Amino acid sequence: MSPVSPLVQRLVRPEIQALHAYHVPDSRGFIKLDAMENPYPLPQGLRDEIATLVSAAPINLYPDPSPAALKRKIAELLSLPEGMEVLLGNGSDELIQLLALAVNQPGATLLAVEPSFVMYRMIATFIGMRYVGVPLRDDFSLDLSATLEAIRREQPALVFLAYPNNPTGNLFSADEVHQIIVASPGLVVVDEAYYAFASDSFVPHLARYPNLLVMRTFSKLGMAGLRLGFLAGSSDWLQQLDKLRLPYNVGVLPQLVAGKLLEHHEVLLAQAAQIKFDRVKLFDRLSRIAGVQVYASEANFLLFRIENATAVFNGLKQRGILIKNLNGGHPMLTDCLRVTVGAPDENDRFIAALQEIVA
Ligand SMILES: *Cc1c(COP(=O)(O)O)cnc(C)c1O
Repeated sequence: MSPVSPLVQRLVRPEIQALHAYHVPDSRGFIKLDAMENPYPLPQGLRDEIATLVSAAPINLYPDPSPAALKRKIAELLSLPEGMEVLLGNGSDELIQLLALAVNQPGATLLAVEPSFVMYRMIATFIGMRYVGVPLRDDFSLDLSATLEAIRREQPALVFLAYPNNPTGNLFSADEVHQIIVASPGLVVVDEAYYAFASDSFVPHLARYPNLLVMRTFSKLGMAGLRLGFLAGSSDWLQQLDKLRLPYNVGVLPQLVAGKLLEHHEVLLAQAAQIKFDRVKLFDRLSRIAGVQVYASEANFLLFRIENATAVFNGLKQRGILIKNLNGGHPMLTDCLRVTVGAPDENDRFIAALQEIVA
C-alpha cells in the first residue's frame, strides 16, 4: 500500500482511514465456493429471452426510478400482507445503508448480534453511527437474556437480525426473535438473504409489528450479478427511506432481467431446492471427516470447525478451491471455515481435496 499523503490524512475521517477495504479475493480459475453464489446457469431458452430483452433495452435513458410492475411482481411472489409494500435497493447492502442513514440521529445506536453479517457494523462505521454487538451463545443461538438486556440498556434505534444468520447458517428461534421485536423501542430488520433455503420467514408477521421490516435479496437465488435487494413493510417506513435512495439506484438492465427471471421464478426455486438437497449430502460427508465439526444450516452454505483452519484453507486454495476463511476474525469463529454449497461436481472436488489435506 502506498503511504497516505498529508492532504488525505488531514481530510479523511480517521475511522475510515483505520478501515480495511472489504476484501474480495481474485477467484479466476478457482472453484468458487466462498460467496454463496448459485452455481447453476439459466436454461438456454431463458437466456435467449433475456438476450432479446437486453438488445432492445433503452440504455440511453435513465431507468424507471420506481418500477411499479417489478415491485408488484415481488409483492405477489411474497404474498405480502395487505397494505405492505416493497422498496428496491442496489443489493440489500444498499438498503442496510439507507436504514442506518435514516435513523442516525445524534446518539442513535445500531445493534446486531455477533458473529453475524459484517456489513451491519461496517456501515455503522461508514456513517459514524454508534454500534453495539451482542455475542451469540457458543452454539450460535441467540443469547436472549443478554440481547434483551442490551436492548433495554442501549435503546437501539435499529436492530439487524440475519434469519438465517451469516456466517453461522443457523435459523434463530422464531419465538426469541418475536420477543426481541416486542422489546425493541426502535426498528428491527429481519434480514432474510437466505430465505430461499430456509424453513421460516417473518414476512407473514409484518402487519403485526409497526417496528418490523423484512429485507431480502435475490443475490443468493442466482442473481448476485444483478444487484437487487428489497425491503418489505409498511409504506410509513418505506416512504421515508425512499427519500434517501439515490434516484436511479437500480439500472435499466437489472430491472429488465430481474423482471424476466421472476416470471420464471420456478426455475430459480428448483435450483434452490437442488442446493438444499445437496446441502444435506454435503453436511453428511463433511461430518464424517475426522476432526471436522459442522454446524446445522438453513442457508446455501455450511460453517465448519477444523484444527489449523488457515492451513486447511490454504491447502484447498492450492488445490483450486476457494472457500471463506473465518479464522482470525471474530473470536467465536476460531478455526472456522465457511463453504458455499456448489454444484454436485464442485462439492465432490471440495470433499476430495479436504480428505486429502486431513489424511
Ligand atoms: C449476502 C448477504 C447480504 C447482501 O446481499 P446483497 O448481495 O447486497 O443483496 C445481506 N445480508 C446477508 C445476511 C447476507 O449474507
